[in-house]
Amino acid sequence: MRPRQLLKTCLLLTVAWSSASGQPAANLEMTIHVHDYAGIDPGELAEAEAFAARILHKAGLRTQWNNCRFRPAATALRGCAAATGGVTHLYIRLLAEPMAGKLAASTTILGMSLPTSRGTFPVDAYVFAERVGVFAEQDRGPVLRLLGAAITHEVGHLLLAGNAHSVTGIMSAQWGPKEKKDALMGVLTFSRRQSEQIRADVRQRMSGSNQRTHIAYDERGIEPNRGR
Ligand SMILES: [Zn+2]
Repeated sequence: MRPRQLLKTCLLLTVAWSSASGQPAANLEMTIHVHDYAGIDPGELAEAEAFAARILHKAGLRTQWNNCRFRPAATALRGCAAATGGVTHLYIRLLAEPMAGKLAASTTILGMSLPTSRGTFPVDAYVFAERVGVFAEQDRGPVLRLLGAAITHEVGHLLLAGNAHSVTGIMSAQWGPKEKKDALMGVLTFSRRQSEQIRADVRQRMSGSNQRTHIAYDERGIEPNRGR
């Protein structure tokens, strides 16, 4: 499937602890399958995922993570479940530059999610992991936290209908030094309203519905903020 539009992953700043929901995770849970085509160290990937899981937990969502790694010598991903889990399963592909370049030529784009038919739940997204690493290392930023944040941003696009970008926080469309700092401090999070929307979306997914009742998913591009 060819993405029709790009969800830009460069994120912006701000978002204080007070903007996080602080809601308990209750029984809301999603399974996130991470397909690693970028050759990330398993321990480092687990750290990035743990960081992402903490951000999502602040929004009131529990997450289970399944990893599978692409091995060049193999003909297929190993340990990867078939994408038959329904809409409570999300699939995040971590790509190195050669594959990322085929999806998004501009190296300023750090990730994207794939649109679905109007009113249905999207489940597929990409994070251009190598670009995230380059972006982080430009000023020796927290690579693993930024990778976790970029994964979370794309998960946010999958769980938030419509234009999910906000001026501040994890869903900022452009990221710069402020986002790096906030990620390092653990305050790059979803807003209270975004957290509420995520919980409502997951609740609907868990109910067995295959159709969103609210606005259609809207693909948006994301780019780095060069001005800050
Ligand atoms: Zn975005």
